[in-house]
Amino acid sequence: MLDIATRSIRFLPGVGEQRASLLGSELNIRSLYDLLYYFPYKYIDRSRVFKVNELGGHLQHVQLVGEIRSFEELGEGASRRLVAHFTDGTAFVDLVWFKGIKFVKNRYGLNKQYVVFGKPSMFNGRVNIAHPDVDDASMLQLNNMGLQPYYNTTEKMKRHGLNSNAIAKLIQNLLDLLNKEMEETLSSDIVQKHGLMSLDNALRIIHFPKNTKELQLAQYRLKFEELFFIQLNILQYARDRQMRYMGHRFAKVGEIFNRFYHENLPFELTGAQKRVVREIRKDVNSNCQMNRLLQGDVGSGKTLVALMSMLLAKDNGYQACILAPTEILAEQHYATIKRMLGGLPVRVELLTGSTKQKERTPLFEALESGGVDILVGTHAVLEDNVLFYNLGLVVIDEQHRFGVAQRAKMWAKNSIPPHILVMTATPIPRTLAMTLYGDLDVSVIDELPPGRKPISTSHIFRNRADSMYSFIHKQLQEGRQAYVVYPLIKENEKLDLKSLEDGYAHLCNVFCDYSLGKLHGKMKPKEKDEEMRRFASGETRILVSTTVIEVGVDVPNASVMVIENAERFGLSQLHQLRGRVGRGASQSYCILVTDYKLSEETRKRMEIMTASNDGFEIAEADLKLRGPGDMEGTQQSGIAFDLKIANLAKDEQLLQYVREVARGVVDADPQRNNPLYRVVWERLRAIKDMKNWNWGAIS
Ligand code: ADP
Ligand code: MG
Repeated sequence: MLDIATRSIRFLPGVGEQRASLLGSELNIRSLYDLLYYFPYKYIDRSRVFKVNELGGHLQHVQLVGEIRSFEELGEGASRRLVAHFTDGTAFVDLVWFKGIKFVKNRYGLNKQYVVFGKPSMFNGRVNIAHPDVDDASMLQLNNMGLQPYYNTTEKMKRHGLNSNAIAKLIQNLLDLLNKEMEETLSSDIVQKHGLMSLDNALRIIHFPKNTKELQLAQYRLKFEELFFIQLNILQYARDRQMRYMGHRFAKVGEIFNRFYHENLPFELTGAQKRVVREIRKDVNSNCQMNRLLQGDVGSGKTLVALMSMLLAKDNGYQACILAPTEILAEQHYATIKRMLGGLPVRVELLTGSTKQKERTPLFEALESGGVDILVGTHAVLEDNVLFYNLGLVVIDEQHRFGVAQRAKMWAKNSIPPHILVMTATPIPRTLAMTLYGDLDVSVIDELPPGRKPISTSHIFRNRADSMYSFIHKQLQEGRQAYVVYPLIKENEKLDLKSLEDGYAHLCNVFCDYSLGKLHGKMKPKEKDEEMRRFASGETRILVSTTVIEVGVDVPNASVMVIENAERFGLSQLHQLRGRVGRGASQSYCILVTDYKLSEETRKRMEIMTASNDGFEIAEADLKLRGPGDMEGTQQSGIAFDLKIANLAKDEQLLQYVREVARGVVDADPQRNNPLYRVVWERLRAIKDMKNWNWGAIS
């Protein structure tokens, strides 16, 4: 049998050394399989041939059949062009090339029948078609063409004659070669139950559909399959882990939890917090290890949920640990937790990179002997010499700074791995969550504590900064504080630091009656902490900073967030930054400052920010605007979205549907030995074995 996954495209008729290397370097197509799964990005109906005298500037792509009567070279320099005078007997049209003039002239002859395909436009009152596809009429069977596939190619490929048509021909050669029916990859029950087209049909039709109806069926089948195997992979991984690892059972809700709940809690839990605590209790009270992702917008009260979960551990005789991405945050958690616990008999300790050696020794001993109940810390906790007596629960705050590998490191801290609760304030759309964190169960806090005033967000152009300054003056007079944030990216570090320094100097002038602080990532951790503390205590009233304040920091008295060069931030980052204000009782404001000239996409981003305070809504909008590959958080997770046909922004419904189908398979065949599903498991294995299929961190 021909193994298309390993057979190089070099052996396909029509592909030689040169084309093979071009396909490899330009499109990453190396095997026959890669080529077969290189799908068209659009289709154009080519059953219709236009007459030249029907053409106008308003038409989309058209197809003509006729002859070139003469060539003419016109213009100089950048406007140098080759014009071919083309006619089908009804009228003349100019075919125009600005590049590859020599190649075109050598390739096409006069008075031969060609099929010309392109998009007409008007120039100087004449219709012309720039850079059309020109094919020998004898090579194309027009009435048989149906929808013509269009494949993405690069300029370099086109120069070597590998245009969309050439790719189509190679694929035709490949399909001819695959003369036996391609084997089904989904089990027969799935194919039947969901009315799917066979794989063989779908792969042939996706390239050369006769009509849109069958094209849609083929697309559906292939999307279904693509999403199905991603979900099957994740769900099977989660199931395996569940079967392999017993969990610690936190059977009771004990004294400390109850005392905290009834005596210490200064407010009622929100409905969403109650629901999530119940979900977590159910997990930790089963015999399986919990792996839960808790999503909640900034300020939704995740820390409290984390604390109550840790008290469950304590009541059942286990230790717990909460990890934060920065020292400032860890210290803040430590202080908050100690304050909230009041006089309860729970020992809480802090471990960060700056914990002194002198303090470490007794701390480590207390951890190992079980003297410490809750450890709050940073990455420092991951080190191998940090050992626990019996770690039952790990909470990871702000997930996207911790990778999957680090999660796994915490499991190893105990013979039975602890329950894991991952918290993130970067809400991600459901489709992404299912694909990225599909191995985690997801809880959502979709409700803010009562009494919060929504942050009022506005967008201004830089030339209106004066009115903004007088507004900030008023806020300062009322006793409030303000953040002013500047972007800082590595590639542009020097310039960015300079604009921060300039901005700082300028603001010191404008607000000369107040003290200002300055904070950026280039400062030493000690200096940063000091600046942060000065701002938190109200000593400084304006903090001019880069995005180092992005994560978690809590200064309830700050009521203004100014984001300079807002056009340079992504939506979810803007939303995160905005979440630094609105934490106290007073009305808060976020002001996005940009240049006057903005791209369409940036304008949209500013519009979304001023219109919505809802992190999930914003995340959905972000996914639609930018596509999943660029989403913050996905890059760090190491999963590339190498989807060939499905689209996470558009195929959410199908993804959810398919996830249930995959779950059905995992439930029905947990041991993977049911003959009905053998084909599915074999296919999953094969996909994972294929080298350039990127399954990211999960394998
Ligand atoms: P997150 O970590 O989700 O951004 P926090 O846990 O820091 O949010 O909570 C934000 C603020 O809201 C904290 O000051 C916290 O004490 C307060 N808070 C949390 N839950 C409630 C509640 N149910 N009612 C009132 N205030 C709450
Ligand atoms: Mg938090």
